[in-house]
Amino acid sequence: MTKQLKPCPFCASTNLFIDDVDYRFNKIVPEEQRGIYNAVVCYKCNARGSEKDSENKAIQV
Ligand SMILES: [Zn+2]
Repeated sequence: MTKQLKPCPFCASTNLFIDDVDYRFNKIVPEEQRGIYNAVVCYKCNARGSEKDSENKAIQV
């Protein structure tokens, strides 16, 4: 997996990873929105991008 991630908007670190969030069995989430979401997370300052329903959308934040 070689995705080009933008540097962190808070600390400019490029030490980022894409986190998976599993809402498939989350009863708080409406049924039509359940699924696996991706968010970009910064290792350095722990900043977290918004959760999207695909990696490609998550890295465009
Ligand atoms: Zn950061």
